[in-house]
Amino acid sequence: MAGRLLDLALPSDCAGCGREGDALCGACVTALDVRADDPPGVAIGLPGDIPAPLAQVEWCTNFTGVTRRALHRLKYSGDRRIAEPLGLAVARRWARAGAGGDVLVPVPASRDRVRDRGYDQAALIARVAGAHLGLPVRADLLERSRYTAAQFDLDRTARAGNVAGAFRLRAGVLPPRGAGPDGAPWIVLVDDVMTTGSTLAACATILLGAGALGVSAVTVARER
Ligand SMILES: [Zn+2]
Repeated sequence: MAGRLLDLALPSDCAGCGREGDALCGACVTALDVRADDPPGVAIGLPGDIPAPLAQVEWCTNFTGVTRRALHRLKYSGDRRIAEPLGLAVARRWARAGAGGDVLVPVPASRDRVRDRGYDQAALIARVAGAHLGLPVRADLLERSRYTAAQFDLDRTARAGNVAGAFRLRAGVLPPRGAGPDGAPWIVLVDDVMTTGSTLAACATILLGAGALGVSAVTVARER
């Protein structure tokens, strides 16, 4: 009975094409690797530079088609199976293009959203990626400090203002250790979608203020 209810509640088809079976079928999963062979730092059509204070920003693919549908399903349909192929794609891209890093830190969703959904999608993606990269994941480090409006409703300037001050270190957590002087860690932020990068930059500011040696970021997709 429980199994049948789960079958009713959760999709059992590919988020990309609707074919019965895996969360992303073998054909659709290739959409996550469109940048697989791009060297690091090449950002064709990228408006502006990497937002300060981030040292490096990488992403797997564009926020279109299959990828857009897969991320939408992870966020809104409760289908956590999707985190596996997305996290694997993040691991592949970071292994190819990322300049090191000691620890992965997912960008936290708001507590309300985590409660409604039952999970934090960036944390799920980071856990899969960390397991495959052999890097620890610290989902307990950052939290949202206040409500922020949905970023897609805002223009570029408003987005940066919207997220400045939106994050803080969670009280009482031990900072991660890394390979830098005095054990300072190089942190790699993980998120599902990057648009202007202002959310990632806001998180990086907090982590650098807490003693990180440097902060980079990798996301599943980039929205232009
Ligand atoms: Zn498919």
